[in-house]
Amino acid sequence: MKNKIGNIVIVAFVILNIVVWFVFPPEYDGSDTFARRYAGEVLGSTVIILMSCSLFLTTRPAWAEPFFGGLDKMYIAHRRVSTSAFLLLFVHLLTVPISVTDLRLGNYLAMIAFTGIVSIVLITLAPRIAFLSKLTGNTYEGWKNLHRYIGIFFIIGFIHALTVKSLHALVAISWVQIFFIIGTVSYLYTEIFGRFFKKYLPYTVEAVNHPNNSTTEVVLRAKKDSIRKQRAGQFLFVRFPQEKILSEAHPFTISSAPHEDVLRVTVKACGDYTRHLFGNLKTGMDAVVEGAYGLFDYKTGGEKQIWVAGGIGVTPFLAFVRDMKGGLNHDVDLYYTVRHREESIFVEEIESAAQKNPRLKAYIRYSSTDGSLTIEEILKNAGGNIRGHHVYMCGPLPMVQAFEKKFSESGVSAANIHYEEFNFR
Ligand SMILES: Cc1cc2nc3c(=O)[nH]c(=O)nc-3n(C[C@H](O)[C@H](O)[C@H](O)COP(=O)(O)OP(=O)(O)OC[C@H]3O[C@@H](n4cnc5c(N)ncnc54)[C@H](O)[C@@H]3O)c2cc1C
Repeated sequence: MKNKIGNIVIVAFVILNIVVWFVFPPEYDGSDTFARRYAGEVLGSTVIILMSCSLFLTTRPAWAEPFFGGLDKMYIAHRRVSTSAFLLLFVHLLTVPISVTDLRLGNYLAMIAFTGIVSIVLITLAPRIAFLSKLTGNTYEGWKNLHRYIGIFFIIGFIHALTVKSLHALVAISWVQIFFIIGTVSYLYTEIFGRFFKKYLPYTVEAVNHPNNSTTEVVLRAKKDSIRKQRAGQFLFVRFPQEKILSEAHPFTISSAPHEDVLRVTVKACGDYTRHLFGNLKTGMDAVVEGAYGLFDYKTGGEKQIWVAGGIGVTPFLAFVRDMKGGLNHDVDLYYTVRHREESIFVEEIESAAQKNPRLKAYIRYSSTDGSLTIEEILKNAGGNIRGHHVYMCGPLPMVQAFEKKFSESGVSAANIHYEEFNFR
């Protein structure tokens, strides 16, 4: 329940906004367009509230993680809240009376804010629209850089609200101003002054290993202070400032155990950054690390657990396995599935941990030769009943979604199904 509070609060703000506008309505000014302007202001202020919550989430507040279920889930909330704001923006536009002869500043600002927000959001929602993707070079980095400007359009949108011919509703407008301040401060924090507060810690690349021909294991040693004490399964953001392409911060799970004196991340080459990292990262380079984030933690789950890893999604489970040291307080069936044997990493280490720990059973699956992993097989190995089990999953989204459905159908409650979201977009 605790991990739902964040989303509930956002919905509560929206409801409260409607209540405030009804309890403290604007003074009737005798015009025929009053009702449309009133409805438009309620909608417009809801857009401001949602956008401000969305901007707040991008500040990555570690203290808010428990209320959303981890930073990865906060990004999902950010996406949903932004999409809702975007859709309401259209409804707002259709509701308010627009006059082409009214040339006041607020109307120009509305056009600028609307066009800016729509262009940026369209690129997010439809990254394959050819002419829009040209603006971003069709890369995540390009999209992220463009996405940065959304806060400017948020501010323009609010100034528009103050400079159009608005209704007289002091309480309601003052209430919305609180959200404008939250959104603006969050935006400025993310883009400008956050760097003076956030802990970006200097590390050195101590070793670069290649466990197979598409994966890089980066070993990082703190130059001075380490990142805040992490739990197995958490992730960090890392960048390597000496290399242009690698100087952008990317999230990776910490695949080493918390007790190790170095941090390790294990990275699959799948796009620009990760391919460049595979070929160009060198021992001795500087690294800047931020973290640790995330609440994907097997220690908070029940005694009987099922872990399902697909491809590079094995990284949090590597951290779990490495964290066991003396033993394991849970009965765990670990499934690690990859297409071909050559794609697998650290299999011997996982198998050896399973030999040493009788409570850990490891099932390695090469789907091209063994066929895909099935729920029937998982059920059989668990003795037929998994109702009380806790499930931890990390891997390609279609795999995680398909198993989530099958685990639910097999009686595992939603609260017992945990998964790590590898996609922040
Ligand atoms: C919590 C978390 C943990 C992760 N752990 C691992 C791991 O242990 N090992 C691993 O190989 N991969 C991990 N990833 C995925 C990894 O971050 C992406 O594969 C990598 O950033 C892709 O970058 P690219 O430029 O090579 O690929 P691109 O093709 O540019 O991007 C592919 C996708 O990766 C994501 N992505 C790209 N750049 C960023 C960025 N700067 N910030 C956030 N997301 C981005 C986007 O969803 C994008 O659509 C993790 C992701 C998250 C969110």
